[in-house]
Amino acid sequence: MMAINTRLPAWLGLNHGGDRYTYADDERFGPMQADRVPETWVRTTCGYCSVGCGILLGVKDGKAVTGRGDPDHPVNMGRLCPKGQSEHLTLSAEGRLLFPTVNGHDVTWDHALNVMMKRMKALLDQHGSESVAIISTGQLVTEEFYALGKLARLGLGLAHYDGNTTLCMSSAVSGYKMTLGSDGPPGAYADFEQSDCIVLFGANIADNHPLLAPRILENKTATVIVVDPRVTKTAMVADHHLAISARSDIALLNGIIHILIAENLLDLEYVHAHCDGFPELAEHVRRLTPDKTAKQCGISVEQVLATARAIGNAKAATLAWTMGVNHSVQGAETSALIVTLAAITGNLGKPGASPFSITGQCNAMGTRETGFTASMPGYRAFDNPQDRADLAELWNIDESRLPSTRGRAYPDIISGITEGRIKGLWIIGTNPVVSYPDREELEYAFSRLDLLVVQDGFHTPTTALADVALPAAIWGEKEGTFTNSERRVSRVRKAVEPPGEARSDFDIFITIAERLGMREELFPDWKTPEDAFNEWARISEGRLCDYSGITYDRIDAAGGVQWPCTPSQDTPLGGTARLYPDGRVSTATGRTQLVAITQREISDKPRPQFPFLLNTGRTVEHWHTRTKTGRVEILDRLAPIGWVEMNPTDADRLRLLSGQMVKVTSRRGSIDEIPVRVTATVRAGEVFIPFHFDDMCANRLTIAEFDPISREPNYKQCAVAIEKA
Ligand code: SF4
Repeated sequence: MMAINTRLPAWLGLNHGGDRYTYADDERFGPMQADRVPETWVRTTCGYCSVGCGILLGVKDGKAVTGRGDPDHPVNMGRLCPKGQSEHLTLSAEGRLLFPTVNGHDVTWDHALNVMMKRMKALLDQHGSESVAIISTGQLVTEEFYALGKLARLGLGLAHYDGNTTLCMSSAVSGYKMTLGSDGPPGAYADFEQSDCIVLFGANIADNHPLLAPRILENKTATVIVVDPRVTKTAMVADHHLAISARSDIALLNGIIHILIAENLLDLEYVHAHCDGFPELAEHVRRLTPDKTAKQCGISVEQVLATARAIGNAKAATLAWTMGVNHSVQGAETSALIVTLAAITGNLGKPGASPFSITGQCNAMGTRETGFTASMPGYRAFDNPQDRADLAELWNIDESRLPSTRGRAYPDIISGITEGRIKGLWIIGTNPVVSYPDREELEYAFSRLDLLVVQDGFHTPTTALADVALPAAIWGEKEGTFTNSERRVSRVRKAVEPPGEARSDFDIFITIAERLGMREELFPDWKTPEDAFNEWARISEGRLCDYSGITYDRIDAAGGVQWPCTPSQDTPLGGTARLYPDGRVSTATGRTQLVAITQREISDKPRPQFPFLLNTGRTVEHWHTRTKTGRVEILDRLAPIGWVEMNPTDADRLRLLSGQMVKVTSRRGSIDEIPVRVTATVRAGEVFIPFHFDDMCANRLTIAEFDPISREPNYKQCAVAIEKA
């Protein structure tokens, strides 16, 4: 039996640090209560974040009674964070949507779908295909995303279908496309173990992707650098923390590139062989000296030099990023600049070396791969004639049925509603009332809708506004696959029956296709999600995200398989650890397109009336808008209400103590009462609020300002005022 690994800080909240163990009779867990001793264990994958940990779900008498980290899963090797550890409790949580409703009254499925389809058809007939839109999520299984895409495009003929994934990772998608020619994270988690320099840009993984933290901390030979305005839990355990001023990440990246060129720390052989745009980049950063960079970023010259040299001298560097970069009006450009930095130092396609976007939700990758507003299935482009012809042939349809341009992204669907162009909206598995920036404006938009259909597992502030609510099965109640941040496809299994009349999203989509009289055309011979998976695998063949060699059996044997994977890859685990090993990327020329980017000013800057800069983010106990975690008692008790973090200098000036209630106001709205936490983890002049809470809703304050390329919101910088409540 492995000893518990005591090297990991306890506050990371990981249940243990051993490599492998047998869970059933492990005395470290203590004696199990009799009513929690499972009769069967169901092997599945966590339904929260994109790390993609394997979970063993213990079931007794048809109920989920416990959960354990799967010791044989290649991602987490037995560990779980607090959310994964308590995820089985979501299956017995209060607040489920049990029956379909129309105008708040319980009705039969037949009646609810009649109302939905009749009113949707009336809008489409009267106002055309642009009058109804879908906003889905990153939390369905891939089989459901693939089915929904077919239903939206071919069944309902809708022009606008996006996911809430645009709110968290579309900047990374755009950054990859700008430089590498296609979406698709090039790296693997193993890179964190094999790298000798790991830089985390705007990535507080200890809170947001907890099971990646030990992989980094256990690499004792790597220099770990965290770039973040806050002293996050991740920054606390890094070798170096660059507490840069807000939105100065582009200035830092440019300054680092300047030093690498000046000190000849580039991989010029790689640049000449595989990259375009280097002369323009070198000219762009020529005057960005370490002095200027340090001043702009609010850090020392020594820190800028040390960071550049750590990257430049590393044999293999991993440059990872997540929401601190993505949630910006320059998120796409910043992502592209990180890929550029990786490429000019030769850190692409080799062990320990990659530009690596850590994505957000458990299956954000699934929606990216199977198609949404930005692409068709298999990363096919709407405006590429060959891609359109290929897909039309595979689907056996006339090409004219495929849209020729991308549809509206999530924020543009909302503005389309405000303008009166979009009159019907179908929301699946997301809660925009709490999660969308500028809540008042969002609520105004929804008040203008003729039809709002919301499909979810739980009652939420968004289902409360629905004309038609459809009760959906949740994680643990349905079958399929998730794909994690390193492109690893893992199984998601049904352990218990959904409550009341809730149905899997897969069943709901099939039923709607039947009502359209299109089941045979859209979903031929599909009886189970596995049938959908096998069709999707065939459609993806030959694409970058090639699933053609992945089957449920193969996933079962390996615990998880990384795409691309073809049938001829007959190694025991199959799959491909990292993309672009020969330097040839997915652009038309096969060469990486380097970018030269200039940092822009923050639009809603602090000023006398609103003197603080607000940053928002997540905390380890909760997930998104607490739809599930707020109903798990142990998580709710750990963080039952929101708070605002404020630097001691500012708190002294305002005569505030930790625990006192304050009112926070922006130009868009206010939180009338929220407790202050006085802490030096935020810079003077800046404050931080976690975005999970409905009653202390950070998105009453945030600004509806979006990246012009990716359409991702800026959740990280807006001006607020603070006064005693
Ligand atoms: Fe689930 Fe993410 Fe926690 Fe793993 S790290 S248990 S995937 S929430």
